[in-house]
Amino acid sequence: MKIEHVTVIGAGTMGNGIAHVFASSGFQVNLVDTQQEFLDRAQATIRKNLDRQVKKEKITAGQADETLARITLSLDLERAAQSQLVIEAATENGQVKKELFRRLDKVCGAETILASNTSSISITEIAAATQRPDQVVGMHFFNPVPVMRLVEVIRGLATSDKVFDFVMSLSEMLGKTPVAVNDYPGFVSNRVLMPMINEAIFCVMEDVATAEAVDTVMKLGMAHPMGPLALADFIGLDVCLHIMKVLHQDLGDDKYRPCPLLKKMVAAGHLGRKSGKGFYPYA
Ligand code: NAD
Repeated sequence: MKIEHVTVIGAGTMGNGIAHVFASSGFQVNLVDTQQEFLDRAQATIRKNLDRQVKKEKITAGQADETLARITLSLDLERAAQSQLVIEAATENGQVKKELFRRLDKVCGAETILASNTSSISITEIAAATQRPDQVVGMHFFNPVPVMRLVEVIRGLATSDKVFDFVMSLSEMLGKTPVAVNDYPGFVSNRVLMPMINEAIFCVMEDVATAEAVDTVMKLGMAHPMGPLALADFIGLDVCLHIMKVLHQDLGDDKYRPCPLLKKMVAAGHLGRKSGKGFYPYA
């Protein structure tokens, strides 16, 4: 398997980071979204992040320009036809993803690998929307993608060993550390992280301690770089609630029930950093 050209679907928070990382490693990247303004915003973000790397003397100004020049922007999904690998990083919605994979299956060459960056949707289910479930795999990057080293590589029920092993070594080529995970709700990262965040919210709801106190306990006592409630604000409380609902529903165990305070805050529009208010206020 040889990959020279990669398509990234979705130019949001994750998509621009994934495009950045592939282009930095020398791949030609086609970044696709549904509106030109989203593509332009992604390009500006990549430029800003490359400039930051130049300032820190991690890359030269010439390398930053070359990286950006490897990324083309497109509104046309059919352009994925030229790629040997497609990474979908579109909105976290099962219907949207299945429809995208159905279309990609028709557009792409028979050998093309189709990967999803989903945080919580079953890779096996997404793969079933295609005629090539053996070539569908999860490639779960972390935010901010150029900085975070982990990639959870998710094996769907039908993913072939060849494709799985290839994506593991490709992740290493990108300078990341891949970890092999089987397809279960929340994979490993969110299955462990989200119940911890949810429990921290129960502590606040039951007045065990303030949000600041809970975060201080976890930072100073457990050496976490960031407390669980500050992290929840960073991720987005709506995203946390969505993932808890997936864990609760798909694993069928009440230990994953979303905390009522989390539901109340989402209903009130207190979503964390992106809405200006969560467990902490943001300017
Ligand atoms: P986002 O909302 O920032 O970006 C999603 C982008 O996808 C938007 O620009 C949207 O216009 C585009 N999009 C939607 N439908 C499309 C379509 N049919 N074709 C092309 N583009 C389309 O979301 P995000 O935070 O970047 O998340 C993307 C994926 O990555 C989700 O599956 C999410 O679960 C996963 N993820 C997110 C994080 C995170 O911290 N944000 C971390 C790991 C994984």
